[in-house]
Amino acid sequence: MNRFDYVKPASIAEAIAAASQPGAAYLAAGTNLLDLMKGNVVRPSRLVDISRLPELNRIERLSNGDVRIGALVRNADLAHDPAFANDFPAVAEALLSGASAQLRNAATVGGNLLQRTRCAYFYDPASACNKRTPGAGCDARDGENSQHAVLGWSEACIATNPSDFCVPLAAFDAVVEIERKTGKREVALEALHLLPGTTPERETVLEPGEMIVGIRLPAAARSFAKHARYLKVRERTSYAFAVVSAAAGLIVENGAIKQARLALGGVAAKPWRAREAEALLAGQAAEAGAFQRAAAAALAGAKPSGDNAYKIPLATNLIVRALQAAAQGTPDRVPALPASPFSSVPVSSVPGVLHHA
Ligand code: SF4
Repeated sequence: MNRFDYVKPASIAEAIAAASQPGAAYLAAGTNLLDLMKGNVVRPSRLVDISRLPELNRIERLSNGDVRIGALVRNADLAHDPAFANDFPAVAEALLSGASAQLRNAATVGGNLLQRTRCAYFYDPASACNKRTPGAGCDARDGENSQHAVLGWSEACIATNPSDFCVPLAAFDAVVEIERKTGKREVALEALHLLPGTTPERETVLEPGEMIVGIRLPAAARSFAKHARYLKVRERTSYAFAVVSAAAGLIVENGAIKQARLALGGVAAKPWRAREAEALLAGQAAEAGAFQRAAAAALAGAKPSGDNAYKIPLATNLIVRALQAAAQGTPDRVPALPASPFSSVPVSSVPGVLHHA
């Protein structure tokens, strides 16, 4: 058992001061961190327990129309907030696609942004892993790598980011609010996570001691609410990480796409915003040919990192499905368990828990 300090600050300022020493880690719900500690994968010297800081537990609509989500809001509470699900249905759908009901009830949105890869070699201290031990090598390169990255990977690391929530956040221009000793700063969600390069141990742009305090969704993202979907392919219907996923949003006028938003999950070390595809879609008729061209553009730079060549056509087809589903319109109910994107059952007929006005 690795020994560590446990600190319970009463304010954000106290928390940041307590976390400024090397080896400290913030603890919120701990749904990922505690597993990593029990497996001896990470060994923080201090846990700074921020789970009871009241100012981080609110969903607020700001005067400019943006929505601010405190970092300690639970995944389930955000997904089941009727106003939020109405305005940002693809984000709610992604939240409901993640983990299990029990985990969604406990896990926080801030922690969701910082969850670690599910590469099995990362979780096994007996395996070589550059992310866990820089310079050690990567056992996934010649190992079981069918779930690994096809975009943005490097010889040092081929792991993927496991978050569902981050995918529509990237698509809809979410902003991450960060506090540190010297004040506040903001980072686009799209720029929060780093590609592995030669330093896969560095996963985000966060500096030591910096704390995510909130996530902001811009008012403009509501413009996509009538045509926004998140589709996820996984190995079982529930409680499984994405093999690939796609968040799609459209603004459609008279059958033509005015604007498009598209991001992928399960394909890279970060949620993958497909800007070339978005540009191709703008001005096009909302029909299959345009969706197929956009999907091809989104995967143009993809290459297998192992036994995962199948992910490229899978992601291509999923993008077309997600764009078709978005074009058909956001369903009245955001499904609690979305139907398989390859099911013939209309997704809107699956019993759900949220109503979309
Ligand atoms: Fe470690 Fe990345 Fe290789 Fe997995 S893919 S073993 S996380 S270096």
